[in-house]
Amino acid sequence: MNLSSNLSRESIIHFLEGGGPDSRLFEAARAALQESAGSGVFLRGIVELSNNCRKNCLYCGLRKDNRNFSRYTIPAGEVVTVLKSGYAKGLRSFLLQSGELLGASHIDHIEKILRWVSGNLEGVSMVLSTGELPAKVLERFKKAGAHRYLLRIEASTPELYKRFHPDDGLHEYGDRLRSLQMIRASGWQTGTGVLIGLPGQTSENLADDLLFMKEMDIDMCGMGPYLEHEQTPLWNRRGELSQLEEREVLTLRMISLLRILLPTINIAATTALQTLDPEGLEKGLMAGANVVMPNLTPMKYRKDYNLYQGKVHVEDTLDEVLKILGNRCGVIGRNVELENPGDPIHFTNRMKAQAGD
Ligand code: SF4
Repeated sequence: MNLSSNLSRESIIHFLEGGGPDSRLFEAARAALQESAGSGVFLRGIVELSNNCRKNCLYCGLRKDNRNFSRYTIPAGEVVTVLKSGYAKGLRSFLLQSGELLGASHIDHIEKILRWVSGNLEGVSMVLSTGELPAKVLERFKKAGAHRYLLRIEASTPELYKRFHPDDGLHEYGDRLRSLQMIRASGWQTGTGVLIGLPGQTSENLADDLLFMKEMDIDMCGMGPYLEHEQTPLWNRRGELSQLEEREVLTLRMISLLRILLPTINIAATTALQTLDPEGLEKGLMAGANVVMPNLTPMKYRKDYNLYQGKVHVEDTLDEVLKILGNRCGVIGRNVELENPGDPIHFTNRMKAQAGD
């Protein structure tokens, strides 16, 4: 079977179901990455800006109706402190992540941080993952200096999406899809991603997720295994879940297949993958990922940003984290690219093609 970017749906399903072998799949993904973007590993410092959310996704620990933990928003001054420190250590890309909120104070807060970064940290790519927002808000963020937006579709099959979101008019698949399309059409470096291993999800669903990302021609992807959370409605269906090992291997196959389908995009070895397996970082990179996201959220907030249970909380200082990351990447022959924002080559090529170069 030919492992090229023209992989058919049938071939994708074959590999997802272990028709492999996996070693061949992972090797082909690494070759595709090496050929297109090289073996560098890009760092994206993540700040979990606020755990407030207006939504109630059935799988997420931060859902509005979960009242079992404290809600927070990190003040701008504290965010600036961690960004400065990350910058001083060589980070050139930062992700501001929060639940979805439309209030003016939240939007102003993000805009203020972005403006500070633009005025003070040279050569930084700011990434936002703050949910479905109106076009005019995104425009404000762009003007304030953000470049990249990550909006996970979570499940690209509408029926599956519907099964994991309340039917209350706030969680419409069509709205999410239009939001993602609007982000891409308005010139952002665009990322999406899906949950892998949801109850009732099939190989066909996952193959369609990969083909959706190819069709959308995205620039970045963050996808990870579904990890259950006790304080969510989906916890009741945990008996239907596959073993963690199976979810892990499925995630690695998804990373490899996406790398083969879209060789020049950025793909993250997600925290969820690293939560599932202490060697998730190495395994994700060996399967074709090229982005790692050290957590810069001040320690006192981290325990309250639990999208899923058991999330890894690294207590090392940033210096130690970067040293460990460098060593771990080095062991598998990969080099951490400091002082490089790591813009996806896919985006650069897309812009050139658009300009008719
Ligand atoms: S997945 Fe995102 S939008 Fe949904 S409840 Fe969690 S934080 Fe909110």
